[in-house]
Amino acid sequence: MTDRGGTPVATLEKIYTRAKELGLRFPYLGNVYNHRYENTYCPACGATLIERQGFSSRFRELDGTQCGKCGEKIGIVTHVG
Ligand SMILES: [Zn+2]
Repeated sequence: MTDRGGTPVATLEKIYTRAKELGLRFPYLGNVYNHRYENTYCPACGATLIERQGFSSRFRELDGTQCGKCGEKIGIVTHVG
């Protein structure tokens, strides 16, 4: 579908907010460069767990599988093998 523009950022933000309201713990937006919702945050304290920018990402406040700030268990697999 190239006859229409991209989804407006405001619409994506509404979807993100609704996802949180519905109980999703780790929603994030893709292909929205330099937007705070590209990142993954701790659902308990709001610390940035995964910072994304385009196709790159890096772990921030993760201590193994816990939030490095508050200790919240984060259901994440950070490596395979
Ligand atoms: Zn936390």
